[in-house]
Amino acid sequence: MKKVIFALPLVFAACTAPETTKVAEAFDVKYLDHSVTACEDFFQHTAGGWIEENPIPETETRWGRFNELIETNKHRLRSILEEVSSGTYANGTDEQLIGDLFASAMDSVARNQAGLTPLEPYLDRVSQVTSIEELFTLMGENKFNGVGAPLSMYVSTDAKNSSAHALYVGQSGLGLPDRDYYLREDSAGLVLQQQYRDHIARVSALVGKQWDVEAIYRLEKAMANAMKSRVEMRNSVARYNPMTLEAWQTLAPDMPITAYMKAIGVEADTLINSSPEYFSRFNEACAETGLETWKQYYQWHVADAVANILNDEFETLNFEFYSKILNGIPQMNPRWKRAQGAVGSLGDQLGHLYADRYFPEESKAQVEAMVEDLRAAFRDRITGLNWMSDTTKEKALIKLEAFTYKIGYPDKWKNLSDLNLSRESYFENSKTISRYFTMDNLAKLDQPVDKDEWGMGAHIVNAYYNPLNNEVVFPAGILQPPFFNPDADDAINYGAIGGVIGHEFSHGFDDQGANYGADGNLENWWTDGDKERFEALTSKLTAQYDAYEVLPGVHVNGNLTLGENIADLGGLTLAYHAYVKHRGENEVALIDGFSDEQRIFLGWAQVWQMHGRDEYLKNQVVTDPHSPGKFRVNGPMSNMPEFNAAFGCENSGVAKAEADQIIIW
Ligand SMILES: [Zn+2]
Repeated sequence: MKKVIFALPLVFAACTAPETTKVAEAFDVKYLDHSVTACEDFFQHTAGGWIEENPIPETETRWGRFNELIETNKHRLRSILEEVSSGTYANGTDEQLIGDLFASAMDSVARNQAGLTPLEPYLDRVSQVTSIEELFTLMGENKFNGVGAPLSMYVSTDAKNSSAHALYVGQSGLGLPDRDYYLREDSAGLVLQQQYRDHIARVSALVGKQWDVEAIYRLEKAMANAMKSRVEMRNSVARYNPMTLEAWQTLAPDMPITAYMKAIGVEADTLINSSPEYFSRFNEACAETGLETWKQYYQWHVADAVANILNDEFETLNFEFYSKILNGIPQMNPRWKRAQGAVGSLGDQLGHLYADRYFPEESKAQVEAMVEDLRAAFRDRITGLNWMSDTTKEKALIKLEAFTYKIGYPDKWKNLSDLNLSRESYFENSKTISRYFTMDNLAKLDQPVDKDEWGMGAHIVNAYYNPLNNEVVFPAGILQPPFFNPDADDAINYGAIGGVIGHEFSHGFDDQGANYGADGNLENWWTDGDKERFEALTSKLTAQYDAYEVLPGVHVNGNLTLGENIADLGGLTLAYHAYVKHRGENEVALIDGFSDEQRIFLGWAQVWQMHGRDEYLKNQVVTDPHSPGKFRVNGPMSNMPEFNAAFGCENSGVAKAEADQIIIW
């Protein structure tokens, strides 16, 4: 028997509708796994039933509630894409651009007929190169064609002057997902390295070349050896190294960076170099590696960059290694999904059509109110911190008040009416788009930062914090169940989307976000003592996650995931207190036997009902700064006295004794 007395305005409306369906949509208790208690393993307790009933589809490497929402969105986008690709629209309209791009990607007959022919002139140009300088010129030119190797050069907000832009240069140019793949010496690692070399050899044969695969691999391994690790690359202070071109000549005299810059048409006296040690060692590779190896290495990367925009044969070959071997995915996605991925490069255009159809305007005001609730909760938490001095608290509160937010979709959409796309050739369309956005990015160097710009399409199921704008952003795509459900009780929504909002807020105060001030500049606003106490707390959290075992012998990397783990812990804590404040003195009845305090935790856990293939998990711990779903649930809960109180847990399983709990924000 369910007797529900809603005391909150938001859910009054739900009383008039059939109660059972509404509650079931909010959190379905049939997915609870009663073989484990909430205190023992909250993730398993809340996700076990769902996992049991929802095996990972053959085309996926992981599956969860998150993915279900993405899947729903894909079907909605499909209906938009099929409609606009079968109609006739004026050139340069959003409909024409994405309609023609989608149609060209779907045209398997034309793509297969063209085969690898479109790639040939690009490989030929590499063959004709006679010096390393000429090669770097060509590399610069091909940046406009979507070939990034062997370095990453782009314009972005200057981290120490957040209203202006700067030219950045960073390490790049590997074919495996991370430098760590090259450094492994265990047997599984060696097997993977061999499979990668086999893949390069197959591509070499496919494009009719006789590359020396061992030499290419040795060069990539030398680059990998010189690279900073992902953990080191997280360090926002160590990443900021302004360097004049003169200083560059001393650092890497054999690497013709000026030829590269000339080719991309950028004039700058100063570059911000994210890993100087890398480039000095890269310089050794430039000096020691023969031109022929460089050319073959580069041909391999030119081919790799276009593997998915040519014919079926190349796409399948690419799938066999990158999806099947690296991620354990048995089966390729249907063509419409692959083509849809391609249209994602026109994020504003697709997002615009999506938001017009699928984003209820009322959601914006509701989420806005929650953002302010979360900010208020954070204000209280900062004020009440026992480890932070008043001096630093004052600065933290200034930063908190300065946070801006974007919800749903941009106020103004990017105008791409001068972009020329047709149905003729998917390959040419891809090059045109790549050229357009590369030029657009490089042209920003002399322009002020446009704070209204979005870093994500409105249709995307995700959210982000941008420290350089000190802003949190929630696209329309994520403002749907299980994250935001207008029909659910408030506790569920505060736990889910409230937790996400709190998570993004907390990024502004995670181990890296805390290095940025209220205006988005990299600057220290901490006293030494507070910084020390903060670091003592965060290193405890690192140790906690280091101990989490994902698969036998495979652990979470506590340093790589530190920022996300701080954000999960902060986010859920803020969501809890924002809810309690919002509820006030009102009494809220149990739903399905759960109190509202308990339902906050159910709301968060529901979002992370998920599982992944072994290959996915192994890949995730190396490349992904997020912890696996299980630890995004159990990790924060273990450190919350609020969790222990809500479920009556003491020191067992997930629940830690209060003295051991790590409370940061
Ligand atoms: Zn995050």
